[in-house]
Amino acid sequence: MNLNTNLTVTTLATDLDGTLIPVHETPQQRAAVKHLGSLVEEHSLQLIFVTGRSFALTFEAITQFDLPHPASILCDVGSTMWHRRGDGSYEPDRDYEQALLDRMGRWTNASIQSALCERVEWLTPQDPRQQTPLKCSFDFPHRALSAVRESVAMWIVEFDCPLAFTISRDPETGDGLLDILPIDVNKGSAIHWWATRRSIDPASIVFAGDSGNDTAAMTSGVRAVLVGNADEQLRGETKDAMRDQQWLYLADGIGPEGVRDGLMYHLGRRG
Ligand SMILES: [Mg+2]
Repeated sequence: MNLNTNLTVTTLATDLDGTLIPVHETPQQRAAVKHLGSLVEEHSLQLIFVTGRSFALTFEAITQFDLPHPASILCDVGSTMWHRRGDGSYEPDRDYEQALLDRMGRWTNASIQSALCERVEWLTPQDPRQQTPLKCSFDFPHRALSAVRESVAMWIVEFDCPLAFTISRDPETGDGLLDILPIDVNKGSAIHWWATRRSIDPASIVFAGDSGNDTAAMTSGVRAVLVGNADEQLRGETKDAMRDQQWLYLADGIGPEGVRDGLMYHLGRRG
């Protein structure tokens, strides 16, 4: 049975860290990145990066790992969007930015930082380079995950904040990562904004990811790839949340090798 006979894939949307960026320094990982670049060209796909990184750190990764240049970069966990211009440079999407600022009401990055640091003892604000007017980010020890989740959720309800949060795990340090964003903003909503503006059917988008802040995108009506280095719990949760199991490819391959295998699955091609 082949699910792909009636559907064209138009877009590869991918997370970077733990997903498209090589997880290990091996020739196989590098080759998988190159192969993905070729598949994108061969099938005339739009390529978009959907990442927790800032725009500057995304560019560092593109250079460092020789990644293909995407049509758009949805960075800061979907709260900032940049599009490639004809000359190869990128410009921010100001309409998107304003729409999200309006949604935050009176809250700012600074007021969120001070309110939460006072209330939740485990939280440390991340480096200023990881902060934006639309994303407030903290680190915390992973053992405090339940306490952090509960405290932040209660704070949002208590103050009726037009905000939401995602929690994930730093693949390198194992620490917890907390991102506070305007309500209803995540990688999934950013992909849908991007697609709507281009009249692209979300069902024609393949999205690949590896961690908790990718779940919203994976389960938002796109085709999904979860790479092999995602933890077992996330694999189970994502599987349960998918409306159609055939729209999810649980890859064995690590990082870019998993993305490549998943894209080929959704394109209806075999190794
Ligand atoms: Mg990731």
